[in-house]
Amino acid sequence: MTLLVQPRRVNEPFSELALLLDFCFGDKAILFDLGDLSALSPREILRVSHVFVSHMHMDHFSGFDRLLGVSLYREKQVHIIGPPGLAAAVEAKLRAYTWNLLNEGSHDFTIFASDWTEEGFATAAAFRARRAFEREGWRNTSTRIPLDDPEFSVEAVTLDHGIPCLAFAFQEKLRVNVHRSRLDELGFPVGLWLTNAKRAVRRGADAATEFTPNAGRKVTLGELLRDRAMVCGHGQRIVYATDLAFHPENVTRLSNLARCADRLFIEAGFLEADRNLAAVKKHLTAAQAGAIARQAGAISAYPMHLSPRYLGRQDELRVEFEAGFLGGFESK
Ligand SMILES: [Zn+2]
Repeated sequence: MTLLVQPRRVNEPFSELALLLDFCFGDKAILFDLGDLSALSPREILRVSHVFVSHMHMDHFSGFDRLLGVSLYREKQVHIIGPPGLAAAVEAKLRAYTWNLLNEGSHDFTIFASDWTEEGFATAAAFRARRAFEREGWRNTSTRIPLDDPEFSVEAVTLDHGIPCLAFAFQEKLRVNVHRSRLDELGFPVGLWLTNAKRAVRRGADAATEFTPNAGRKVTLGELLRDRAMVCGHGQRIVYATDLAFHPENVTRLSNLARCADRLFIEAGFLEADRNLAAVKKHLTAAQAGAIARQAGAISAYPMHLSPRYLGRQDELRVEFEAGFLGGFESK
Protein backbone atom coordinates (compact mmCIF):
# COMPACT_ATOMS: atom_id res chain seq x y z
CA MET A 1 0.00 0.00 0.00
CA THR A 2 1.32 3.44 -0.88
CA LEU A 3 0.37 6.12 1.63
CA LEU A 4 0.62 9.83 0.94
CA VAL A 5 1.56 10.67 4.54
CA GLN A 6 2.69 8.90 7.68
CA PRO A 7 1.41 10.38 10.97
CA ARG A 8 3.77 10.47 13.93
CA ARG A 9 3.19 11.66 17.48
CA VAL A 10 6.08 13.99 18.27
CA ASN A 11 6.07 13.40 22.05
CA GLU A 12 5.17 10.64 24.48
CA PRO A 13 1.49 10.58 25.48
CA PHE A 14 1.83 12.52 28.78
CA SER A 15 3.64 15.43 27.10
CA GLU A 16 2.61 18.44 25.06
CA LEU A 17 0.80 17.74 21.82
CA ALA A 18 1.97 17.77 18.22
CA LEU A 19 1.22 15.27 15.44
CA LEU A 20 3.52 15.34 12.43
CA LEU A 21 2.06 14.27 9.08
CA ASP A 22 5.16 13.55 7.07
CA PHE A 23 4.68 13.22 3.31
CA CYS A 24 6.25 10.03 2.00
CA PHE A 25 7.29 11.74 -1.21
CA GLY A 26 8.59 15.26 -1.50
CA ASP A 27 9.99 17.56 1.08
CA LYS A 28 6.82 18.44 2.93
CA ALA A 29 5.08 17.99 6.26
CA ILE A 30 2.04 19.23 8.17
CA LEU A 31 1.69 19.68 11.93
CA PHE A 32 -1.48 19.27 13.95
CA ASP A 33 -0.87 21.36 17.08
CA LEU A 34 2.23 23.19 18.15
CA GLY A 35 3.22 21.82 21.57
CA ASP A 36 6.84 21.12 22.46
CA LEU A 37 8.77 20.48 19.20
CA SER A 38 12.20 19.79 20.72
CA ALA A 39 11.98 16.14 19.61
CA LEU A 40 11.84 17.22 15.96
CA SER A 41 15.08 17.84 14.06
CA PRO A 42 15.58 21.21 12.32
CA ARG A 43 15.34 19.34 9.03
CA GLU A 44 11.90 17.99 9.95
CA ILE A 45 10.69 21.40 11.14
CA LEU A 46 11.88 23.03 7.92
CA ARG A 47 9.69 20.61 5.94
CA VAL A 48 6.54 21.91 7.66
CA SER A 49 4.46 24.08 5.34
CA HIS A 50 1.22 24.23 7.34
CA VAL A 51 0.51 24.14 11.07
CA PHE A 52 -3.05 23.61 12.33
CA VAL A 53 -3.52 24.71 15.94
CA SER A 54 -6.50 23.36 17.89
CA HIS A 55 -6.43 26.20 20.45
CA MET A 56 -3.87 28.37 22.17
CA HIS A 57 -3.60 26.70 25.58
CA MET A 58 0.11 26.56 26.30
CA ASP A 59 0.59 22.82 25.78
CA HIS A 60 -0.70 23.18 22.21
CA PHE A 61 1.15 26.36 21.22
CA SER A 62 4.45 26.60 23.10
CA GLY A 63 6.36 25.02 20.18
CA PHE A 64 5.91 28.22 18.20
CA ASP A 65 9.26 29.49 19.51
CA ARG A 66 11.18 26.49 18.17
CA LEU A 67 9.44 26.74 14.81
CA LEU A 68 10.42 30.43 14.72
CA GLY A 69 14.00 29.88 15.85
CA VAL A 70 14.69 27.12 13.33
CA SER A 71 13.06 28.98 10.43
CA LEU A 72 14.29 32.53 11.06
CA TYR A 73 17.32 32.51 8.78
CA ARG A 74 15.73 30.54 5.96
CA GLU A 75 13.88 31.34 2.79
CA LYS A 76 10.65 29.77 3.99
CA GLN A 77 6.93 30.34 4.29
CA VAL A 78 4.72 28.72 6.88
CA HIS A 79 0.96 28.92 7.26
CA ILE A 80 -0.45 28.74 10.78
CA ILE A 81 -4.19 28.18 11.02
CA GLY A 82 -6.24 28.09 14.20
CA PRO A 83 -9.40 29.26 15.95
CA PRO A 84 -10.32 32.95 16.39
CA GLY A 85 -7.43 34.75 18.10
CA LEU A 86 -4.70 32.76 16.36
CA ALA A 87 -3.31 35.68 14.33
CA ALA A 88 -3.29 37.87 17.45
CA ALA A 89 -1.52 35.10 19.41
CA VAL A 90 1.17 34.80 16.72
CA GLU A 91 1.63 38.56 16.75
CA ALA A 92 1.93 38.59 20.56
CA LYS A 93 4.59 35.87 20.40
CA LEU A 94 6.57 37.84 17.80
CA ARG A 95 6.27 41.07 19.76
CA ALA A 96 8.01 39.44 22.71
CA TYR A 97 11.39 39.58 20.91
CA THR A 98 13.64 42.39 19.67
CA TRP A 99 14.12 42.44 15.89
CA ASN A 100 16.46 45.41 15.32
CA LEU A 101 18.87 43.23 13.33
CA LEU A 102 16.26 42.28 10.74
CA ASN A 103 15.92 44.35 7.57
CA GLU A 104 15.22 44.09 3.83
CA GLY A 105 18.47 42.14 3.40
CA SER A 106 17.36 39.42 5.83
CA HIS A 107 16.21 35.97 4.78
CA ASP A 108 12.68 35.96 3.45
CA PHE A 109 10.97 33.98 6.20
CA THR A 110 7.24 34.68 6.29
CA ILE A 111 4.46 33.52 8.59
CA PHE A 112 0.88 33.62 7.33
CA ALA A 113 -1.49 33.40 10.28
CA SER A 114 -5.23 32.80 9.81
CA ASP A 115 -8.21 32.59 12.14
CA TRP A 116 -10.64 29.93 10.94
CA THR A 117 -14.34 29.69 11.77
CA GLU A 118 -17.14 27.46 10.48
CA GLU A 119 -17.96 30.29 8.02
CA GLY A 120 -14.42 30.23 6.61
CA PHE A 121 -11.36 32.36 7.21
CA ALA A 122 -11.91 35.52 9.22
CA THR A 123 -8.89 37.52 10.38
CA ALA A 124 -5.56 36.85 8.70
CA ALA A 125 -2.15 38.52 8.77
CA ALA A 126 1.34 38.12 7.35
CA PHE A 127 4.57 38.61 9.31
CA ARG A 128 7.81 38.88 7.30
CA ALA A 129 11.31 38.70 8.75
CA ARG A 130 12.38 41.39 6.24
CA ARG A 131 9.82 43.75 7.80
CA ALA A 132 10.90 42.88 11.36
CA PHE A 133 7.65 40.92 11.70
CA GLU A 134 5.43 43.99 11.53
CA ARG A 135 1.85 42.86 11.09
CA GLU A 136 0.73 43.17 7.46
CA GLY A 137 -2.81 42.82 6.15
CA TRP A 138 -3.32 39.61 4.20
CA ARG A 139 -6.39 37.72 3.10
CA ASN A 140 -6.67 33.96 3.12
CA THR A 141 -8.81 33.25 0.06
CA SER A 142 -9.06 29.49 0.62
CA THR A 143 -12.46 27.84 0.65
CA ARG A 144 -14.48 26.94 3.76
CA ILE A 145 -12.28 23.96 4.48
CA PRO A 146 -8.93 25.19 5.79
CA LEU A 147 -6.77 23.64 3.06
CA ASP A 148 -7.55 22.20 -0.36
CA ASP A 149 -4.68 20.72 -2.37
CA PRO A 150 -4.98 18.66 -5.57
CA GLU A 151 -3.83 15.57 -3.64
CA PHE A 152 -5.39 16.10 -0.21
CA SER A 153 -7.51 18.40 1.93
CA VAL A 154 -7.63 19.37 5.58
CA GLU A 155 -11.09 19.79 7.07
CA ALA A 156 -11.96 21.22 10.48
CA VAL A 157 -14.84 21.47 12.92
CA THR A 158 -15.18 23.71 15.94
CA LEU A 159 -15.64 21.88 19.24
CA ASP A 160 -16.44 23.23 22.70
CA HIS A 161 -13.62 23.23 25.28
CA GLY A 162 -15.03 26.20 27.17
CA ILE A 163 -13.45 28.07 24.26
CA PRO A 164 -13.63 27.19 20.53
CA CYS A 165 -11.23 24.32 19.86
CA LEU A 166 -10.65 22.92 16.37
CA ALA A 167 -10.46 19.25 15.41
CA PHE A 168 -8.87 18.40 12.06
CA ALA A 169 -9.17 15.72 9.38
CA PHE A 170 -6.51 15.07 6.77
CA GLN A 171 -8.16 13.50 3.73
CA GLU A 172 -6.07 11.97 0.98
CA LYS A 173 -8.17 12.39 -2.16
CA LEU A 174 -7.25 9.11 -3.80
CA ARG A 175 -5.15 6.20 -2.65
CA VAL A 176 -2.98 4.77 -5.42
CA ASN A 177 -1.66 1.26 -4.85
CA VAL A 178 1.09 -0.17 -7.02
CA HIS A 179 0.98 -3.88 -7.90
CA ARG A 180 4.63 -4.75 -7.99
CA SER A 181 4.07 -8.17 -9.60
CA ARG A 182 2.16 -6.59 -12.50
CA LEU A 183 4.93 -4.03 -12.93
CA ASP A 184 7.45 -6.87 -13.11
CA GLU A 185 5.34 -8.73 -15.68
CA LEU A 186 5.14 -5.60 -17.78
CA GLY A 187 8.88 -5.14 -17.48
CA PHE A 188 8.71 -1.77 -15.74
CA PRO A 189 11.18 -0.96 -12.95
CA VAL A 190 10.20 1.15 -9.93
CA GLY A 191 11.64 4.63 -9.82
CA LEU A 192 10.92 8.32 -9.92
CA TRP A 193 8.66 7.87 -12.97
CA LEU A 194 6.32 5.76 -10.80
CA THR A 195 6.16 8.40 -8.07
CA ASN A 196 5.26 10.94 -10.75
CA ALA A 197 2.64 8.58 -12.21
CA LYS A 198 0.98 8.12 -8.78
CA ARG A 199 0.97 11.87 -8.26
CA ALA A 200 -0.58 12.33 -11.70
CA VAL A 201 -3.42 9.94 -10.82
CA ARG A 202 -4.10 11.76 -7.54
CA ARG A 203 -4.17 15.08 -9.38
CA GLY A 204 -6.63 13.79 -11.98
CA ALA A 205 -4.23 13.95 -14.93
CA ASP A 206 -5.36 12.92 -18.42
CA ALA A 207 -5.19 9.18 -19.28
CA ALA A 208 -2.94 10.00 -22.23
CA THR A 209 -0.23 11.42 -19.93
CA GLU A 210 3.00 9.62 -20.79
CA PHE A 211 5.82 8.29 -18.62
CA THR A 212 9.15 6.70 -19.51
CA PRO A 213 9.89 3.74 -17.22
CA ASN A 214 12.60 2.36 -19.51
CA ALA A 215 14.83 4.25 -21.89
CA GLY A 216 13.02 4.43 -25.18
CA ARG A 217 9.80 2.83 -23.89
CA LYS A 218 6.82 4.95 -22.94
CA VAL A 219 3.58 4.07 -21.17
CA THR A 220 0.44 6.13 -20.59
CA LEU A 221 -1.43 6.60 -17.35
CA GLY A 222 -4.45 4.90 -18.92
CA GLU A 223 -2.38 1.81 -19.80
CA LEU A 224 -0.96 1.56 -16.28
CA LEU A 225 -4.49 1.60 -14.80
CA ARG A 226 -5.96 -0.71 -17.47
CA ASP A 227 -3.18 -3.25 -16.88
CA ARG A 228 -3.70 -2.92 -13.11
CA ALA A 229 -0.12 -1.93 -12.45
CA MET A 230 -1.75 0.83 -10.39
CA VAL A 231 -5.11 0.50 -8.63
CA CYS A 232 -7.07 3.34 -7.02
CA GLY A 233 -9.00 3.27 -3.77
CA HIS A 234 -10.36 5.67 -1.19
CA GLY A 235 -7.68 7.92 0.24
CA GLN A 236 -6.75 7.59 3.89
CA ARG A 237 -8.43 9.83 6.47
CA ILE A 238 -6.48 10.86 9.55
CA VAL A 239 -8.41 12.71 12.25
CA TYR A 240 -6.95 14.62 15.18
CA ALA A 241 -9.20 15.70 18.06
CA THR A 242 -8.21 16.97 21.47
CA ASP A 243 -9.55 19.07 24.32
CA LEU A 244 -13.32 18.77 24.14
CA ALA A 245 -16.09 18.49 26.67
CA PHE A 246 -18.17 15.31 26.59
CA HIS A 247 -21.62 16.48 25.57
CA PRO A 248 -23.95 15.47 22.74
CA GLU A 249 -23.14 18.35 20.38
CA ASN A 250 -19.38 17.77 20.60
CA VAL A 251 -19.84 14.01 20.24
CA THR A 252 -22.01 14.42 17.13
CA ARG A 253 -19.69 16.94 15.47
CA LEU A 254 -16.57 14.89 16.13
CA SER A 255 -18.23 11.60 15.16
CA ASN A 256 -19.17 13.14 11.82
CA LEU A 257 -15.64 14.43 11.21
CA ALA A 258 -14.12 11.08 12.18
CA ARG A 259 -16.63 8.94 10.24
CA CYS A 260 -14.80 5.81 9.05
CA ALA A 261 -11.42 7.45 9.67
CA ASP A 262 -8.49 5.15 9.01
CA ARG A 263 -6.77 6.62 12.04
CA LEU A 264 -8.28 8.70 14.82
CA PHE A 265 -5.93 10.39 17.27
CA ILE A 266 -8.05 11.46 20.23
CA GLU A 267 -7.46 12.81 23.70
CA ALA A 268 -8.11 10.20 26.38
CA GLY A 269 -6.66 11.80 29.47
CA PHE A 270 -8.77 10.76 32.48
CA LEU A 271 -9.94 7.57 34.17
CA GLU A 272 -13.69 7.02 34.58
CA ALA A 273 -13.27 7.34 38.36
CA ASP A 274 -12.36 10.98 37.72
CA ARG A 275 -15.02 11.74 35.11
CA ASN A 276 -16.34 14.69 37.13
CA LEU A 277 -12.87 16.22 37.12
CA ALA A 278 -12.61 15.64 33.38
CA ALA A 279 -15.98 17.36 32.94
CA VAL A 280 -14.87 20.39 34.97
CA LYS A 281 -11.75 20.69 32.82
CA LYS A 282 -13.82 20.09 29.66
CA HIS A 283 -11.82 17.04 28.66
CA LEU A 284 -12.77 13.47 27.72
CA THR A 285 -12.18 10.39 29.80
CA ALA A 286 -10.43 7.51 28.06
CA ALA A 287 -13.68 5.52 27.96
CA GLN A 288 -15.60 8.44 26.47
CA ALA A 289 -12.90 8.88 23.83
CA GLY A 290 -13.07 5.18 22.96
CA ALA A 291 -16.86 5.36 22.71
CA ILE A 292 -16.64 8.31 20.30
CA ALA A 293 -14.12 6.40 18.16
CA ARG A 294 -16.54 3.47 18.10
CA GLN A 295 -19.54 5.70 17.24
CA ALA A 296 -17.55 7.26 14.39
CA GLY A 297 -16.68 3.85 12.98
CA ALA A 298 -12.96 4.66 13.08
CA ILE A 299 -10.86 1.78 11.80
CA SER A 300 -8.10 2.42 14.31
CA ALA A 301 -7.91 4.84 17.22
CA TYR A 302 -4.99 6.10 19.28
CA PRO A 303 -5.39 7.62 22.75
CA MET A 304 -3.25 10.68 23.43
CA HIS A 305 -2.92 13.73 25.73
CA LEU A 306 -2.93 11.67 28.93
CA SER A 307 -3.12 13.63 32.18
CA PRO A 308 0.23 13.64 34.03
CA ARG A 309 -1.71 12.71 37.21
CA TYR A 310 -1.68 9.13 35.85
CA LEU A 311 2.05 8.86 35.15
CA GLY A 312 2.89 5.19 35.45
CA ARG A 313 -0.79 4.20 35.06
CA GLN A 314 -0.97 4.38 31.29
CA ASP A 315 -2.21 0.78 31.09
CA GLU A 316 -5.34 1.64 33.11
CA LEU A 317 -6.19 4.43 30.70
CA ARG A 318 -5.60 2.13 27.73
CA VAL A 319 -7.88 -0.57 29.19
CA GLU A 320 -10.73 1.93 29.63
CA PHE A 321 -10.11 3.37 26.16
CA GLU A 322 -10.25 -0.10 24.59
CA ALA A 323 -13.44 -0.88 26.52
CA GLY A 324 -15.03 2.22 25.01
CA PHE A 325 -13.74 1.46 21.52
CA LEU A 326 -14.80 -2.19 21.58
CA GLY A 327 -18.21 -1.51 23.06
CA GLY A 328 -17.76 -2.35 26.70
CA PHE A 329 -18.66 1.14 27.89
CA GLU A 330 -22.08 2.83 27.99
CA SER A 331 -21.68 6.60 27.68
CA LYS A 332 -24.09 8.47 29.93
ZN1 LIG B 1 -6.87 22.94 26.34
